[in-house]
Amino acid sequence: MKEITNTKKRTVLIVEDDLINREILSAILSDEYNILQAENGKAGLEILESSKKEISLILLDIQMPVMNGYEFLDKVKLIPSFRSIPIIITTSSNATDDEIKCLENGASDFVSKPYNPDIILRRVGSMIRLREASSVIDRVEHDSITGLYSRDFFFINSEKVLSESAEEKFDIFCCEIMSLKMLQDRHSKAKTEKLLIGIAKFLTDTFGSNSVYGKLSESTFSVLTLHNSEEKYGDISEALRNAVKSMSIPDAVLHFSAYPCVDADTPAHSLCNRVLTALDEAKFQFGRQFAEFNDEFKDKYSRRHAILGYMETAIKENQFEVYYQPKHSLKSNTTGGAEALVRWTHPELGFISPGEFIPLFESSGFITELDFYVAERTCKDLREQIDKGLPSVPVSCNISRADFSHPALAETIVKIADKYSIPHKMLHIEVTESAYTDNTEVFLDTVQKLHSAGFCIELDDFGAGYSSLTVLSDLDIDILKLDMYFARNMGSPKQALILKHIFSIAQSLNMEIVAEGVETKEQSDAFRSMGCDYIQGYYYSKPLPKAQFEEYLNKQTGETL
Ligand code: C2E
Ligand code: CA
Ligand code: CA
Repeated sequence: MKEITNTKKRTVLIVEDDLINREILSAILSDEYNILQAENGKAGLEILESSKKEISLILLDIQMPVMNGYEFLDKVKLIPSFRSIPIIITTSSNATDDEIKCLENGASDFVSKPYNPDIILRRVGSMIRLREASSVIDRVEHDSITGLYSRDFFFINSEKVLSESAEEKFDIFCCEIMSLKMLQDRHSKAKTEKLLIGIAKFLTDTFGSNSVYGKLSESTFSVLTLHNSEEKYGDISEALRNAVKSMSIPDAVLHFSAYPCVDADTPAHSLCNRVLTALDEAKFQFGRQFAEFNDEFKDKYSRRHAILGYMETAIKENQFEVYYQPKHSLKSNTTGGAEALVRWTHPELGFISPGEFIPLFESSGFITELDFYVAERTCKDLREQIDKGLPSVPVSCNISRADFSHPALAETIVKIADKYSIPHKMLHIEVTESAYTDNTEVFLDTVQKLHSAGFCIELDDFGAGYSSLTVLSDLDIDILKLDMYFARNMGSPKQALILKHIFSIAQSLNMEIVAEGVETKEQSDAFRSMGCDYIQGYYYSKPLPKAQFEEYLNKQTGETL
């Protein structure tokens, strides 16, 4: 192998076992091109992979030892970044069969031996010009990392396939990598790209050459394929989940959806909307991996899209506000604490309930940014109260289950509190059992760090859904927050028995109890008689904006004095 370097020239790779032929071709081309030489297909592939410089064209012999020209073509076809390099076959055979086979395998043209220098120079030149012009189009048409169709071209090509095979039934299968942005922050760019390439390869290997492949977004893959059963898609999803475990980011989480029996009459852009909507539905219905598009849900999902689209600007434009809901201490009969609850009023959509946007932000990964924002606002407000000499109480911030994928969750909370010199005991952290179930090890480690840094840990929504007593023994919990469910169902004797046990366990583990969602005097009195420490609910106060909350605390201090 030898390399003639001239930075202004394009580079041509000659893959040919016969030294004399290589030298002849090299002599013809070296005035105008940089030449790289390889003596067989395998060596050619190695040069392609290691070459830092872009190779503009390959001249390829068919009969070679180690790896022949056909095998070389097959390999190159599989690697997206090489696929677009034009390949000219150099052949002595005049057999049309060979030519057809090579063209079918991705070769662009032929030159035959003995070599005519003029013809070779002209073909090489025009092929390179053609490729450079089409690569501009290609960049729009294909995703640069995986080589799959970009979103628009996926739908255009799907529409074509559907109209050409009207008698067949097709499905669109989608696969999405959750929180790709977060993975990109945590891992190297190379690892994320490898993951994307690995998934693309798995899909193309699985669905074969009769399917259309696309990248609908940075993190979403799509496949138009002949109709399959839901069970088959279930198996494929499972197999891909397993395959990811040995890829560059083994803990990447994938979601799947299938839009069954796409309609050949649906224009590409509506097809696109429907598939994206179905994908959203699958994402938000926990445990349900497959979803069909349904007109009824259309408005709901377009609103979800809008909300997700607005979130980044919302934080920049300070659209989020923090409200404080008092926790009334039954022992001291004053406010013993408060919970920070985020509020969002969007300029066009108006007030959006956290019950609506929090789950969306959790699935997009944006929730972590918002939780840090709320923690920061809380600390800032606390600092202001302390500086102004106003009464202040410890405030709890909610930490979403999704936040635990952040590699420096505990450290970031510490940093925020310290930035405003907030004594750590003034900031409480609310966590949920679902986070414990998601990834017990990371959860325990983070909570342990937060607890030993001096923050008080509250276990939120206790008793809602799945509850286990292990979490209580595993964890350094200071306060148990009983889910609203208990306040709603006070009357039932079974409920009363369960509550009695919860209170006695909490007492023996030295935990305080907050009852949430208390709306009436009866409910408050019942909790008081059980030995409850705090009441949080509309009976005492709704969540209040900062100024009103300060007034609320001030008034109380006045009364108790
Ligand atoms: P949560 O943490 O269980 O918060 C308590 C929710 O109950 C709040 O709803 C509060 O306004 C409401 N509430 C309080 N007292 C009563 C009452 O007496 N009756 C009734 N019916 N409701 C009462 P909100 O503010 O709509 O928040 C809903 C959920 O959104 C919260 O439930 C929490 O899971 C989540 N959330 C709110 N702010 C944040 C935040 O900053 N970060 C995270 N990660 N989640 C948040
Ligand atoms: Ca909470
Ligand atoms: Ca709660």
